[in-house]
Amino acid sequence: MTQPCVFCAIVKGEAPASVVYRDDMVLAFMDIRPANPGHVLVVPLEHADGVLDISDEAVLARMFSVGRQVAAALTDSGVRLEGFNLFLANGTVAGQTVFHVHLHVLPRFSGDGLGFTRNANARMPPQSDLDETAERIRHAGGWE
Ligand code: 5GP
Ligand code: ZN
Repeated sequence: MTQPCVFCAIVKGEAPASVVYRDDMVLAFMDIRPANPGHVLVVPLEHADGVLDISDEAVLARMFSVGRQVAAALTDSGVRLEGFNLFLANGTVAGQTVFHVHLHVLPRFSGDGLGFTRNANARMPPQSDLDETAERIRHAGGWE
């Protein structure tokens, strides 16, 4: 970490945030610029730049578990919500702007204008290409 981290400041209570939930591993609070009303961020208490920097798998599991519980609470809260995204941007090219890893819990409703753009007409590569890529990932992961 080269410069002060705003999410660490929030965790320490040194910067303001509208807190939803806190336990011994994670903090959930309202996004300051919500993409839709009810947009919540779940962050580990311990700083990690990105998801690959989280050293404790239990923290990662807790982030997702709490993200799901927040989504359930949002569903019961009266916030406009027909569905939700749980997403995490890792790296600048993926849209990460705050380099303290965070899971977005984002309420969605039809016509909200948000979207993760994918090419609906993306070609289906030959099975052999998929097999080859799967083999590379298995090799890198040590799952052979
Ligand atoms: P990213 O683009 O890194 O996935 O998401 C960063 C999120 O953090 C954005 O949605 C942005 O609005 C939110 N954010 C940035 N600074 C602050 C802050 O100081 N307080 C809060 N609550 N949210 C912030
Ligand atoms: Zn931090």
